[in-house]
Amino acid sequence: MATERQLSRRSLLGAAGAGAVGLTAATAGTAAAATRTADVCVVGAGLAGLTAARDLVAAGKSVVVLEARDRVGGRVLNLSLANGGFTEGGGEFIGPTQDRMKALADSLGVATFATYNTGKNLLYKDGRKTPYATDGLLGSVPPIDAAGLANAAIVQATLDDLAKQIPVDAPWTAAKADEWDRQTFETWLRANAVIPSAKFLFDVACTSVFSAEPRELSFLFVLFYIAAAGNASNPGTLERLTETAGGAQELRFVGGSQQVPIKLAATLGDRVVLNAPVRTITKSGSQYVVTADGTTVTARRVVVAVPPPIAARITYDPVLPAARDQLTQRLPMASVGKAIAIYDTPFWRADGLNGQVVSDTGVVSSTFDNSPPDASYGALMGFIEADEARKFDAASEAEVRAAVLKDYATYFGEKAASPSAFVLQRWNNETYTRGGPVSIAAPGVLTQYGPALRRPVGGIHWAGTETSTYWIGYMDGAVRSGERVAKEVLAVL
Ligand SMILES: Cc1cc2nc3c(=O)[nH]c(=O)nc-3n(C[C@H](O)[C@H](O)[C@H](O)COP(=O)(O)OP(=O)(O)OC[C@H]3O[C@@H](n4cnc5c(N)ncnc54)[C@H](O)[C@@H]3O)c2cc1C
Repeated sequence: MATERQLSRRSLLGAAGAGAVGLTAATAGTAAAATRTADVCVVGAGLAGLTAARDLVAAGKSVVVLEARDRVGGRVLNLSLANGGFTEGGGEFIGPTQDRMKALADSLGVATFATYNTGKNLLYKDGRKTPYATDGLLGSVPPIDAAGLANAAIVQATLDDLAKQIPVDAPWTAAKADEWDRQTFETWLRANAVIPSAKFLFDVACTSVFSAEPRELSFLFVLFYIAAAGNASNPGTLERLTETAGGAQELRFVGGSQQVPIKLAATLGDRVVLNAPVRTITKSGSQYVVTADGTTVTARRVVVAVPPPIAARITYDPVLPAARDQLTQRLPMASVGKAIAIYDTPFWRADGLNGQVVSDTGVVSSTFDNSPPDASYGALMGFIEADEARKFDAASEAEVRAAVLKDYATYFGEKAASPSAFVLQRWNNETYTRGGPVSIAAPGVLTQYGPALRRPVGGIHWAGTETSTYWIGYMDGAVRSGERVAKEVLAVL
């Protein structure tokens, strides 16, 4: 089995095709130590940093993007398969109201296709498998007992209603922000999802959306996340976060989601410097000196487009205001991995299943059919999330594979135990991400420190999906944050 590093390296070179010209280590400015000068230095070549760079360049500014890894895309990553295909180790799906990511992909000629969603979902609960239709009266709600369903419907409607009271640009100013930020989602669920089967549904929804347990999250943060699952004309809903059809998992990208940052970076040419982890950002008169391994950039403005806890690992001189530093001390990454098993065919389809599981047990409790659009081979993708992810952080790949395939065989039968390939991407172990899909806030963080999330510090500006108003935590949020920060910088440059 190839290591994660080998896979990611291949993904840039192999999956990029013509779009990657100018981005290999040899041509992207990594060969020798260099000193560069620019109007703006962008730290991080994820979707946020690259989008910011695109808009700044379009406005006539000179830009250098410093990227720590040997590839662009950050939390978006195509992984090559031995069969010539690829799979996605990070952000993958988009859905309705994720307009900015869709517009970006359209502008780069990256098309979408529907996530496989034909056939029945599978509920695995209390040791029993129950296939269920996703287009019935209850939508795709798993078939739990009637009392649980009634309770769950009320809880869901309440969450959506409360989320409407959250201003997405400043959730800490909601009238009840203090009350909501005093409790965890777990505390709130225990008081409201009083039927055990209903609580189970929200527990699964929580780990699926946040890759965090309900006890880790402020209730205010959860309401903000729901409010952010929309756009200026469509208020966010929980359903839009959790659904496949009509929700955030509706579409995938032809060629894999990393095609978007790869093609975007290609438009920036040698402005993007790979293998350049930024170590220090030092103010020097009216300029900033950004020092990375192999490259030093002097710029009038700096955009830091990396996740908050990772931004905190850069040394700032002078030190950042306490509010900003304490914020980043309190926004840990959630815990996530993806396990993708490859088969000759998507055999579960013949059994009338769409590959989507909701389970109350196992290392993987949520799966998708990640086969390519032509179904030339089968791919089952499972999320390893929250407590389960942490449990397996230090396990060998063989141990994780055995545990995951045991789950897949339980859900889809013995055929699932013998894939032709198995790919594992554990984000908790990635130096420049250390978890995912997003930074999370426990009680007390948003109300005490929230205003420091986007507030520039002198000439240093903050981007990244965590700073978005809509679709925080998603690729769309990253793109929106890049667009916002470019406007912010252009207003003062
Ligand atoms: C397993 C998983 C599944 C996901 N699923 C989805 C999904 O289906 N749909 C969806 O929309 N979103 C999904 N997401 C979330 C989505 O991938 C992210 O929200 C988005 O990619 C974040 O982009 P970003 O630019 O804000 O940050 P990042 O992608 O994290 O980019 C930050 C960049 O900064 C670099 N960097 C870090 N430190 C330094 C440094 N010191 N110097 C220089 N560079 C540095 C990093 O290497 C990285 O390239 C998922 C994420 C994960 C991990």
